[in-house]
Amino acid sequence: MPEAWTQTVKGQHLRGRRTRNTKPELALRSAVHGLGLRFRIHRTVAPRCTPDFVLPRYRLAVFVDGCFWHGCPAHSPAQFRGPNAERWERKLATNRERDRRNNHAAENAGWQVVRVWECEIRRDAAAAADRVLAAARIRSAGG
Ligand SMILES: [Zn+2]
Repeated sequence: MPEAWTQTVKGQHLRGRRTRNTKPELALRSAVHGLGLRFRIHRTVAPRCTPDFVLPRYRLAVFVDGCFWHGCPAHSPAQFRGPNAERWERKLATNRERDRRNNHAAENAGWQVVRVWECEIRRDAAAAADRVLAAARIRSAGG
């Protein structure tokens, strides 16, 4: 059966979302760049696995996760309500599974994965970039 979503205002808003070059993604990239780190965007590191950006020198793969879609503990509802509740839950479960699959695919290809929440970047992009830098440092120390 085809997916039949019940129209809701929230749903319409979310369907218009951008999945690439989102605002938090751009903010993090610019903060990371400001730390002097060099990266490549949207490079495929394993079959069907394309992180938001990678630091080739450190073999570090960075994913920026939208709070809602990836199930941020602070900003994604633990339980959905309303006519589409079951579909939302299934959709988020699928996303989380894909995240795990991507982590494994990248790691198997020799990349270390760093995931950054959208809300972390909104709160403090510099701190989020520091976390990426810290991972790169550990990596270059032979981790
Ligand atoms: Zn969040």
